[in-house]
Amino acid sequence: MRMDVLTLFPEMFEGVFSSSILGKAREKGIVSLNAVNFREYAGNKHGTVDDTPYGGGGGMVLKPEPIFHAVEDLLAPRAEEADKAEGGFSRAPRIILMCPQGETFTQRKAEELAGEEHLIFICGHYEGYDERIREHLVTDELSIGDYVLTGGELPAMVIIDSIARLLPGVLGNEMSAVTDSFSTGLLEYPHYTRPVEFRGWKVPDILLSGHHANVADWRRKEALRRTWRRRPDLLVTLDLTPQDEKWLKEFQEQAEEEN
Ligand code: SAM
Repeated sequence: MRMDVLTLFPEMFEGVFSSSILGKAREKGIVSLNAVNFREYAGNKHGTVDDTPYGGGGGMVLKPEPIFHAVEDLLAPRAEEADKAEGGFSRAPRIILMCPQGETFTQRKAEELAGEEHLIFICGHYEGYDERIREHLVTDELSIGDYVLTGGELPAMVIIDSIARLLPGVLGNEMSAVTDSFSTGLLEYPHYTRPVEFRGWKVPDILLSGHHANVADWRRKEALRRTWRRRPDLLVTLDLTPQDEKWLKEFQEQAEEEN
């Protein structure tokens, strides 16, 4: 998979793209990650990429030309390949605008994007983008939450990291994403490791029993309890088993007794 980021601050990506799990995924050739400075496409000797807004008001607006040209340059080799290949090219890249007004990014969206071959992220800065970028260039607009950051770089890093870790071969078995929070629709169950007892706090006996079916049941129940307590909204759309329903009733009754 290939992920390109258009940014005015490519140096911000150096550490993130070359460290830890992303760095290893890159070394193994599972993912190609590139940060491109779209100032190089400014087309003027001062490298100007922004201008004052028509209609007045504060803040600067990113101009359309540098961003359109940078994206078109990234797409040019694909167009050449498509011309050569008889059957045309496989799938067009998704062009994703980082934007607090966009669709809120979720694990489901990460899973959907992990199925693509090529993603291009556009990081804004200043007051905003010329609206023609939004209307005529991008395929998606993504927000990482209802708050405003100074630029799209941190959101792009968050999104790229969560997509890359889903690609086959990126996480070892010991870090499988299958039981992660949100992957199953629930928050993940609690974890414990050695020592069995720490400052008088003991690991639940069932985890020491070696009985795999009982451990799996306990984990499901505790994942459900945690989700019910912290994120009951997630339960609304979940397919609950009859056993889940029984457990939820039990949690409810326990809570009523405690009150
Ligand atoms: N004036 C814009 C508005 O009110 O919607 C906010 C611009 S913000 C200061 C500058 C840039 O940071 C945005 O263009 C976007 O690329 C990025 N950004 C800020 N908050 C974000 C968020 N929650 N999710 C994704 N990108 C964000």
